Amino acid sequence: AQTYVGFDSITQQIEHKLLKRGFQFNVIVVGQTGLGKSTLINTIFASHLIDSKGRFASDEPVRQTTEIQAVSHVIVENGVKLRLNIVDTPGYGDQINNEGCWDPIIKYIKDQHSAYLRKELTAMRDRYIQDTRIHCCLYFINPTGHALRPIDVIVMKKLSEVVNVVPVIAKSDSLTLEERDRFKVKIRDELIYNNIRLYPFDTDEDDEEEVQLNETIRQIIPFAVVGSENNVIIDGKSVRGRKNRWGVVNVEDAEHCEFMHLRNFLTRTHLQDLIETTAQIHYEAFRSKQLLALKE
Ligand code: GDP
Ligand code: MG
Repeated sequence: AQTYVGFDSITQQIEHKLLKRGFQFNVIVVGQTGLGKSTLINTIFASHLIDSKGRFASDEPVRQTTEIQAVSHVIVENGVKLRLNIVDTPGYGDQINNEGCWDPIIKYIKDQHSAYLRKELTAMRDRYIQDTRIHCCLYFINPTGHALRPIDVIVMKKLSEVVNVVPVIAKSDSLTLEERDRFKVKIRDELIYNNIRLYPFDTDEDDEEEVQLNETIRQIIPFAVVGSENNVIIDGKSVRGRKNRWGVVNVEDAEHCEFMHLRNFLTRTHLQDLIETTAQIHYEAFRSKQLLALKE
């Protein structure tokens, strides 16, 4: 009989090492001004990460974020450390001439790949490279109920070539459930029609379970979300919600909106896959292009 040497403890060793190092997750939010980008981020990650209140006093004109801005946070849950970079972008597509308004966002994403590559190529490279590559791009769609705007199609197409794009229908409390479902189907059709391939991507290595998980996600995307930084009382309990004259939206109630689906997707089910896909598909494509250009 073989003697037990104990290498099965490698999973604990890896876990210990990973726990010590923590995880890095970088998200960018993209979309028109006022679609609730900052609010949603704050709703997802609970604490007030980006101060979207105060800046919008009722009679003050909505002030635009004028530059791409990365904010870092460390969140700890049960001893697991998540370093979170949230990149807020100025609302684009607000102008009459929107030509090229997406360029700074694409450039920002590529710059992170480029910085990572530079560090990788350094002879005495660090054992652990600080990762600023964007793992997920939440793309905010105006809740018109009609169709995507031409600019949405252009920008999502461009973005999908460099980053994992996850579309969300912003402020979906402004749509009835029927409108919402019709809008979702319409958007999915338009994405296919325009040949925009979004995350999740199937790979040959996927097992049954992963294929199934991806399929579930595809049936939900685009996530119809509602964000709120305020709590409201429902049945004596304080929950994240929006209250108006005719009722209350409980952000965390799956009957009301798909916020919980999105949050579970980002933090529970696809966090690791978003990180992996970024490295294996988007960064790899960038890297091989750059290295090829170097040779010439
Ligand atoms: P940003 O410019 O995309 O970052 O938008 P903000 O997060 O600053 O939100 C703009 C305004 O929309 C604020 O007054 C928010 O309270 C409001 N808002 C944010 N999310 C929602 C939502 O899901 N539904 C509704 N009805 N309003 C929202
Ligand atoms: Mg904002």
